[in-house]
Amino acid sequence: MEEVEQVKAEALQIMGVFQLLPKLVVFDLDYTLWPFYCECRSKHDTPYLFPHSRGILHALKRQNVHSAIASKSPTPDIATTYLDKLGIRSMFVAEEIFYSWTHKTDHFQKIHLKTGIPYNSMLFFDDDNNNIQEISKIGVTSILVRNGVNLEAFRNGLAKFSQNGNAAKKNKQKRPK
Ligand SMILES: [Mg+2]
Repeated sequence: MEEVEQVKAEALQIMGVFQLLPKLVVFDLDYTLWPFYCECRSKHDTPYLFPHSRGILHALKRQNVHSAIASKSPTPDIATTYLDKLGIRSMFVAEEIFYSWTHKTDHFQKIHLKTGIPYNSMLFFDDDNNNIQEISKIGVTSILVRNGVNLEAFRNGLAKFSQNGNAAKKNKQKRPK
């Protein structure tokens, strides 16, 4: 528990550096929040998260930044059982867990409809580069994670979000009336 508090404190410190924060952070599940494919496991197993996942979720909540899930897991029943067992299910304002042939564009449409939050106010973490490429195209700042979501990926994500936001502002100012 102590480690969770420490990660949370560090995540809050990182968030404090950036003037522009996302309104919503969207997470993949398998190999992003937790280090396994839940489809390969049983509902009766005890799930566990990557070491920094929980602290980061708590920091977001503390700063009133919403969290959501976009997962293509073919076993949503196992995924939601694990979220319940981990005691984190109530932390997400949207939970889109279903298999799809797209690279999560339909997941994001649903999240947008549910929350009303524009794509350019979202930050997305996933371990699959196809999803990252596709979701970047619709205007979401998207970060590829290699060892799950951790403080380093979190810092990179917030930095890239901030850069994208500032670039958009500059373009607007440049546009002739
Ligand atoms: Mg994944």
